[in-house]
This record gives sequence, C-alpha cells and structure tokens, in this order.
Amino acid sequence: MGFSTNAIHVGQEPDPTTGAVVAPIYQTSTYVYEELGKAKGGYDYARTNHPNRKALEKTVAKLEGGHAAYVFTSGMAGIDSVFRLLRPGDHVVLSEAVYGGVYRLATQLLVHFGLEFSFVDTTDPALVLGAMRPNTKMLYIETPTNPTMRITDIAAMAKLANERSATLVVDNTFLSPYLQRPIELGAHIVVHSMTKYLNGHSDSTGGAVVLTRPEDAEKLYFLQRSAGAGLAPMDCFLTSRGIKTLAVRMLQHNANGLAVARHLDAHPKVRKVHFPGLVSHPQHEIAKKQQRGPGAMLSFDLGTEDAARRFLNQVKLCSLAESLGGVETLISLPAQMTHASMPKEVRERAGITESLIRLSVGIEDVEDIIADLDQALLYL
Ligand code: PLP
Repeated sequence: MGFSTNAIHVGQEPDPTTGAVVAPIYQTSTYVYEELGKAKGGYDYARTNHPNRKALEKTVAKLEGGHAAYVFTSGMAGIDSVFRLLRPGDHVVLSEAVYGGVYRLATQLLVHFGLEFSFVDTTDPALVLGAMRPNTKMLYIETPTNPTMRITDIAAMAKLANERSATLVVDNTFLSPYLQRPIELGAHIVVHSMTKYLNGHSDSTGGAVVLTRPEDAEKLYFLQRSAGAGLAPMDCFLTSRGIKTLAVRMLQHNANGLAVARHLDAHPKVRKVHFPGLVSHPQHEIAKKQQRGPGAMLSFDLGTEDAARRFLNQVKLCSLAESLGGVETLISLPAQMTHASMPKEVRERAGITESLIRLSVGIEDVEDIIADLDQALLYL
C-alpha cells in the first residue's frame, strides 16, 4: 500500500465492538480481568498500554519502516529513553546544532549518570570519525539541524556507525517520514517530536521512537512501561487523527516553504536564508538525494538582535511562538527561545546567532504569509 493509505488505515481499523470507523478514545486507567491472571481484552493498566497507544505505534512503525514504535508524552521523553539504552561509561557523538532540549538533557542530566557526549559538526564525516572513541556506542544526528538547517548524510553516518558497531539514531522531526525515511538509509533508531508534523495541528505533545532491532524494541517497551512516560489516550487519538493527513500537509508545506524561502532570499533586508531547497544551500545535493522534498523549516538572519526584535514584534499572521510543524506559521528567535539553554559560545559555534530567526512555514495561503513577513520587514 502507498504512504497515504498506510497513514489512514494501518492501526486504524474500525472498532471491533461497535463498528465505529474511528475507534473511540479509551479514557480509562484500568481494565477488568476475566479471571485471576487473565485480562479480559489484553490490557490491564493504561501506563503499561492501551488501545489508542497501540494503534498509533502501529501506524508510526509502518510509516518509518521500522520493526516497532513506542510513543511517549513528548519528544524529549522518547529521546531520554533512547539514551537509557546505554550504560555508564558509554560515549555518544551528536550533531553540534541539536535541539536545545537534547543538549540540556545530555550535558546537565545524563552526564551525571556516567554517559559521555561529544558535539561535532556531523555534516563532515571526517569530524565524526575523529570524535569517535573506543567506547562510542551511539551516533545521534538531527538532519536538518534545528535551526541552522544543515544536512547530514545519513547513509555516510550509517556506514561509520556500522564500522564501529555503534547505533545510529536520527531525529526525523523536521521532515516527517513522508519526506525522509532514515531507516531505508541505514539508521537503527528514528526519533520524533510528534508534537510537530506528525500531529500537525499544535494540539498535543508527543514523542516516538522507532526501532529496527527486536532487542532494542524489547528494552524500549520495558522503559516505557516501567518509567511511565507512555502517551495518554487523548493525545494518541489526536496524533493518530493528524497523521491521516500527513502526506497532503507535507506537500503543501513543501510548496509554501520553497516560495517563502525564495522570497526572503531575494529580499534586500535579509542577510542569509538557510533552507535546503535553495540551490545555494551548501548541502543542497545531499538534501536532494535523501529527502523527498525541502520541507518548510527555514531560518534567516537579519544581522542584529535589534533588527530581529523589531521584526518579530511586528509580525501578525505568523505567531511568535516555540514549536513548529503545525498548519499555522510559527516564528521564533532560537537564541532566546528554543536554544536558550545552550551556552552562548556553543550556540555561536553552531551558527545560532542572536539575530537568526526560525520560521515554520504553515499551510495558510502563501501570499498571506509573504505579505505578513514583508510588512514586518518594512520596520527595519
Ligand atoms: N527534536 C526536535 C528537532 C525538536 O525541535 C524538538 C522540540 O522542539 C524535540 C526534539 C523535542 O520534542 P518535544 O518538545 O515534543 O519534547
């Protein structure tokens, strides 16, 4: 079956008891036993599992082409579980421009449990190889990076990881499985903030971990049910509903993203636009090779923090807010918002300046988005 058919039907079978085409939200914490030791419908307690979670996990595993998927209360909860597959003394190499929350989790929390982390520019395989140590057990990349939109060659990373018996983890949040399928390129684990494109409507948080190896899947399920960060029924329901329109949304996101990027690129007041769909992007060719489209995340520099502040205070249709991937256009200043937890020197090394603006281009009429950006640029 094709991507959209799978997105609409896999895990989303009609409710067996009532025939409802859309299965209900199983808003219950516990399930009755038929007899001692035998749960009536296969479920016993909602922390462990419930029908809405099972349905969503089936859909996500199918769309990413994995063996199994587990969904969590947020992207961070899922990513935290992935790092917990490691043991004290293990080392991880990560993209230097990862989401600020991942940087914070690694450097302020997980280091206290004996894990070691190195952040490098993963667009250069030689730097990644140089950062690997005998105890490197994981390679963790985001591509495109948030918010600098650098592209890492997933297949090249898979080769490096396999040569060193390390696990390659790819954060696929910025593109969704419709535009990029890391497992087909050799990734062992894919993570998502489902809060973004998979849900697509900015009305729930959620995270997904997709695994290719049964032994990793078993450990992840153990972590999910033991630590208790599995996604609740209502949020699973909302995310499942959002996923059904993923393909059509992503097609419109692609078109709007490209139109806005080209417009800003030609604007005299915009210094630099970072968008993999522009031919001028340094990794445009790799993006073309491994992505099915450019997506709708971009960043651009207005030169000074003051200019960025004046611009952000003038936009009207674009909402000044954290997050991304929803139907509505969201705009933010990563240095003071999503990446505020990164030390300034680390941010600067990763290219996240005080004047770099991140735009999550929505699927409103693109002329309206451009008109809003233009009127705000007049204030500079
Ligand atoms: N990965 C990326 C690329 C993100 O942008 C984010 C959040 O913005 C996360 C992970 C974390 O996801 P969540 O906010 O759902 O915990």
